[in-house]
Amino acid sequence: MAETVPPLTQVEQLSALLQKVALTAESANQKVNWESILKLLGTDEHSPGDVLNGVGEDTLKELLEFLDIWISGRNTMIPTKWEADYTDLVYCSTVEEVQAKVKECLSNGSILRIAGAQHSTPEAVFAPEGEKAIRVKLEGDLRAIEWLGKDPVNDTITLRVGAGCNLGIDPSDPNSNASNSLTRQLDARGYALPILGGMSHQTIGGYMSTSTAGGSIDFGCADSILAIELVDGQGQVRKLDKVANPDEFNAAVVSMGLFGVFTHITITAGKKYLVKGKEETVLRPNSIITSGTAFLDAVHQNHYVHNVWFAAEFVNSVLQWTGNQVAEDPGNPVVPYVHPLESRNMNYAAATTFLATAWLTYDNAPQLAALIFNIIQPVGSVQNFCDHWYRALPNDDLALIDVVIRVQFTEIWIDLEDAQKVFDTLTTLFKNDLFAAGNFGVEIYPGKKSPFWMSMSYGRDVIRIDPYWWEYNVIGDLDEYFEKFWKVLLPFESARLHWGKHWPAVGKTYGSRKAIGPGFVEESYPKFGEWKALRAQFDPKNVFVTKYWNDLLGFEAE
Ligand SMILES: Cc1cc2nc3c(=O)[nH]c(=O)nc-3n(C[C@H](O)[C@H](O)[C@H](O)COP(=O)(O)OP(=O)(O)OC[C@H]3O[C@@H](n4cnc5c(N)ncnc54)[C@H](O)[C@@H]3O)c2cc1C
Repeated sequence: MAETVPPLTQVEQLSALLQKVALTAESANQKVNWESILKLLGTDEHSPGDVLNGVGEDTLKELLEFLDIWISGRNTMIPTKWEADYTDLVYCSTVEEVQAKVKECLSNGSILRIAGAQHSTPEAVFAPEGEKAIRVKLEGDLRAIEWLGKDPVNDTITLRVGAGCNLGIDPSDPNSNASNSLTRQLDARGYALPILGGMSHQTIGGYMSTSTAGGSIDFGCADSILAIELVDGQGQVRKLDKVANPDEFNAAVVSMGLFGVFTHITITAGKKYLVKGKEETVLRPNSIITSGTAFLDAVHQNHYVHNVWFAAEFVNSVLQWTGNQVAEDPGNPVVPYVHPLESRNMNYAAATTFLATAWLTYDNAPQLAALIFNIIQPVGSVQNFCDHWYRALPNDDLALIDVVIRVQFTEIWIDLEDAQKVFDTLTTLFKNDLFAAGNFGVEIYPGKKSPFWMSMSYGRDVIRIDPYWWEYNVIGDLDEYFEKFWKVLLPFESARLHWGKHWPAVGKTYGSRKAIGPGFVEESYPKFGEWKALRAQFDPKNVFVTKYWNDLLGFEAE
């Protein structure tokens, strides 16, 4: 009879599996197969079954599912409740079709919601179940580009972009490809956007609507947008120009689908460039997020900065990424950026690591969890790169973020001046609560002051705190996890929450702030009252308003 294996020995062997299967296969460029897994799992004394004995049932089920997909060679997504929903979408290819849909909703009392790539929380995009709603997606002319003209003096180009155009390529959308991507078409003509988010699957309409931003205080999306065209809540086309209609323009750009359906965005783009930078994993005391001063220095010295803090006990490392624009010329040879999860093997290894580390952490083996984690993201790894802007800036495009590294977020934007207080608060949080570090990381990055009234960075540069919740976590609960951060960060007077990411339930209170809902938003955004008044002119019948947005922003109470 096989002797009983102490739990730690079992998980140690499981960690050996992760280490050997993932990294050995990776370095030898081998395919992973069941035979190699079973061989690695079993030892002379124990069968593979012994090794997995004692691992939580849910963890084991998910682990086997990932291992199965991993060795199959497919990149099939295991369904989650957050994936993009393409059922019952109404595709509109022209402005007239959008107008007709708004009028149809007005006449039959439906809500109209417009989807981009659906990277925001489902409730920010669509109507919750039970609400009568039409779900529109833009196609054809409304994702095409019209090239309006070049300015040879400033070396810029002006273009009118269909709001449904993806910035990069959205792997979940069968109609999205390199030839209809905004970044690829711009680059092919010699131009570039000054900034992108950490990935570029979004549509330009969805990107603007939630005030998406990359890690920079030098560049923001407001630098590029000159004018917008939208179909309002009465089916009328409105054109808003940055110079001619500054109030309406600054109110409407960030409006979460509540002012109307953006159909076209006129933007300006400058000469294309490379991003020269460095990515390294260091211990937090040696990192640029060790203090407010270090962070501010890095943010002022670099065009682009983003960091993922792996705050788990015995880990406490930071993946820090800094970069600067340089000219695309022979003096700057291209050195491609390599994502830590660029290969398929590393993505699946990371997925199985998340499962193992969550289970081990909750099972009180944080030291072992740290050991496994450090195999995937070792301290000391460093790379210098000098890559094309559309590849280096949205670097997470290079990982399988739509399949196995699927993540949900909440994101808190706080005045950059408060950076030190933020670090003190997070340090205390991680010290007092082992589980706040989770099994992944917390992104810490800056954002540029925005002119858009409802932007989370309206009026000030910001520090942003973005905890990651891996969608396949079988241990813990998303709201409970984010609550740990809301509890300590939302009491900051200057805290605002990203519109496209998770929010606490309406009615919850944090510190001396008003309860989550219209009062909380009103004390966060000085132009909220004016924004609501303007919105009422654009959408007097509330054709775009769902229960989610009404509870949060309070339109019907007016
Ligand atoms: C993996 C991942 C990484 C991310 N990285 C970042 C990041 O680095 N920085 C950051 O700030 N955010 C980031 N986000 C958030 C993301 O950028 C936003 O959620 C963004 O809104 C998604 O754009 P979308 O095209 O998917 O729009 P959707 O999510 O489909 O829609 C967002 C909102 O815009 C509205 N909308 C969409 N199209 C239109 C239109 N044509 N007219 C009017 N309203 C419209 C929708 O109704 C909805 O309210 C990330 C999200 C994910 C999943």
